[in-house]
Amino acid sequence: MNSRVPDGPIEDKWKRHKAEIKVVSPGNKKKLEIIVIGTGLAGSSAAASLGELGYDVKVFCISDSPRRAHSIAAQGGINAAKNYQNDNDSVYRLFYDTVKGGDYRSREANVYRLAEVSNQIIDQCVAQGVPFAREYGGMLANRSFGGAQVSRTFYARGQTGQQLLLGAYGALNRQIQAGTVKSYPRHEMVELVLINGEAKGIIARNLMTGGLERFGANAVVLASGGYGNTYFLSTNAMNCNGSAAWRCYQKGAYFANPCFAQIHPTCIPVHGDQQSKLTLMSESLRNDGRIWVPKSLDDVKAVRDGKLKGSEIPEERRDYFLERRYPAFGNLVPRDVASRAAKERCDAGYGVNQTGLAVFLDFSTTLAKPGGKDYIESHYGNLFQMYQKITDVDPYKEPMMIYPAIHYTMGGLWVDYNLETTIPGLYAIGEANFSDHGGNRLGASALMQGLADGYFILPYTIGDYLSGKIMEPHTDVKATEFDEAEKAVQDRIAKVFAVNGKTPVDYFHKKLGRIMWEYVGMARDEAGLKKAIDEISALRKEFWSDVRVPDTQMEFNQELEKALRVADFFDIGKLMAMDALQRRESCGGHFRTEMQTPDGETLRDDEHFSFVGAWEYKGEGAEPEMHKEPLEFKYCKLAQRNYKN
Ligand SMILES: Cc1cc2nc3c(=O)[nH]c(=O)nc-3n(C[C@H](O)[C@H](O)[C@H](O)COP(=O)(O)OP(=O)(O)OC[C@H]3O[C@@H](n4cnc5c(N)ncnc54)[C@H](O)[C@@H]3O)c2cc1C
Repeated sequence: MNSRVPDGPIEDKWKRHKAEIKVVSPGNKKKLEIIVIGTGLAGSSAAASLGELGYDVKVFCISDSPRRAHSIAAQGGINAAKNYQNDNDSVYRLFYDTVKGGDYRSREANVYRLAEVSNQIIDQCVAQGVPFAREYGGMLANRSFGGAQVSRTFYARGQTGQQLLLGAYGALNRQIQAGTVKSYPRHEMVELVLINGEAKGIIARNLMTGGLERFGANAVVLASGGYGNTYFLSTNAMNCNGSAAWRCYQKGAYFANPCFAQIHPTCIPVHGDQQSKLTLMSESLRNDGRIWVPKSLDDVKAVRDGKLKGSEIPEERRDYFLERRYPAFGNLVPRDVASRAAKERCDAGYGVNQTGLAVFLDFSTTLAKPGGKDYIESHYGNLFQMYQKITDVDPYKEPMMIYPAIHYTMGGLWVDYNLETTIPGLYAIGEANFSDHGGNRLGASALMQGLADGYFILPYTIGDYLSGKIMEPHTDVKATEFDEAEKAVQDRIAKVFAVNGKTPVDYFHKKLGRIMWEYVGMARDEAGLKKAIDEISALRKEFWSDVRVPDTQMEFNQELEKALRVADFFDIGKLMAMDALQRRESCGGHFRTEMQTPDGETLRDDEHFSFVGAWEYKGEGAEPEMHKEPLEFKYCKLAQRNYKN
């Protein structure tokens, strides 16, 4: 593995790299074909930018329209180091906060570049017409997110992802109209095709007809999102899956830090067995919402029994546990820290709902101020409405009840500084790669990363590779490599139908999710992780002997789609557990109960675990091999994360 991080001072690396890498002339760009998998913020921005540059682009997504990608669900905002608040923000501070927020398990050079291009993203989106919130005087507004002591988050009420995606989708459509991009909605990439070890195409399943189709290119870009749905219940869209990345892994792309999954502290708690989705309450709410549980177990019992409402408990009987434990950051500590603190209170018996797995998120302090209700409405109106619709409780009157849930995956395909995987010609961007967030992603940083990759990094770095492909003939989709790839897909589909069992796919997915949450969730230990590996293997076996997939391949068949994805979730879940087992330290969202400080914080082991763990597939049934990319910290001082003072 060569991360290809350029030499020189960190502030100059990207500038110099751009100046030194090769470019493709305009006349040659149109001869080169690029496949982009995914139309979330990463994929749409990349496809639009590559099209605008003149490449011949094909873009694929599962949904019926590119603009229905999961990115549309993003609520709270996007970070940038504009320093509009004059509160002493800077590129360097954003860089440092992000490395520290990730518990020192990300690559410094990549994170610095991310902070550097963050400001360009805002300019680009404003130029597209993204309606960011503005101050009275017209200046773009900012709010705060976890892990930062400055206000650097740009937002559009609680619909930032939707507005950003509309911007990217507009740019994409412009290219579709111009003929530089061809869009393939409802087409699922089901295999990657390599020719002479390089990524040269894909096999896609047309989800409407069920037919398998071949597409060739000079390079493939994976922007297929994260694998959080391994846990079944998560805040991710139901369609999110890890299968495209898994296909690439099985073809030789290393999978990095699979165990780094993010648990978001503020989600609507699980409320029953029949639930298939969890709803996020944006982190932005922690700007004005205060998190607490009652101080006394009597009050807890009264709340659970319905004899007392949260709003009736007076101030002095409330434990604002984040403000108590972390005075410097208060309710705006990073997500992993806030989630663990909520779990600690609930484990101690202070959970406020029937299951004991909920804490209060309370806006009464802000609502009591003059103009408080208008302020809350204008900043979080749609989130309040969403909460009321789901729970039938009016959050203007009663505190919300929230609990942590799986939300994001920091792990993903290993990429070098150019965002290229270990397969030449295969790039990974957005949540699909592992690159910038280490052990914990700070809020409002995923949108920043997806758009940085798509608008400002990949369009440059891919030219370095493609400049060597100008004389290459178009990829021939009749080549034997395509025959073999298509046959592999056909065999996989036949195998899943051949089981002809009795049990629906969701049964297995739910069961997998319970194993993952129990043993590979917020707290992990050696015995639990070993148990998870055994139980996942047993469940996988059961799946392959009893799953029932109705109907046929050659039609719109969502059970088949799910079955193929769940088959991969078993393998992804197992790799996550294996990775968590080898990482005998706690860092970010990866909390090994054996390794913690006396006050319950993560205890890293920098001497032995300051590396990226990148897994190499070794074939069906064989143990994968882990490679280490050592992490060097020249600019950020390795330290125990401190959000207390
Ligand atoms: C509820 C919620 C709120 C969030 N709020 C914020 C926020 O406020 N700020 C922030 O920074 N982050 C937020 N995030 C995280 C952020 O939204 C995501 O990390 C980000 O949008 C991922 O973008 P992406 O382009 O990488 O992937 P996605 O948006 O997940 O897009 C993946 C694309 O890949 C396609 N795809 C997948 N597999 C295949 C396949 N096999 N073949 C073809 N196409 C495929 C899908 O159809 C889709 O188009 C939030 C996440 C959630 C769940």
